[in-house]
Amino acid sequence: MTTVWISPSATAFSCLCETCMERARQEGLLFSEALMVSSVRGSIAADTDVALARCASGHEITLRRVERPPGLTRPDDRQLQIA
Ligand SMILES: [Zn+2]
Repeated sequence: MTTVWISPSATAFSCLCETCMERARQEGLLFSEALMVSSVRGSIAADTDVALARCASGHEITLRRVERPPGLTRPDDRQLQIA
């Protein structure tokens, strides 16, 4: 299963299905063709940390949001002030 890491603020993703890439390799497709058949795009809600997506062939892709850096989860107004 493919796992894709999403940046903390991202609401869209674009990735490659590893299963499709592997199959394309075995079928001897050109690399550019393999990229085309494996490409998966979609969107993810900003407050969703883990989600499932499927490629065109139905393989499951796990989307996991990267942990927000500690200290940035609750922005403090004082941090935004520039002296
Ligand atoms: Zn696939």
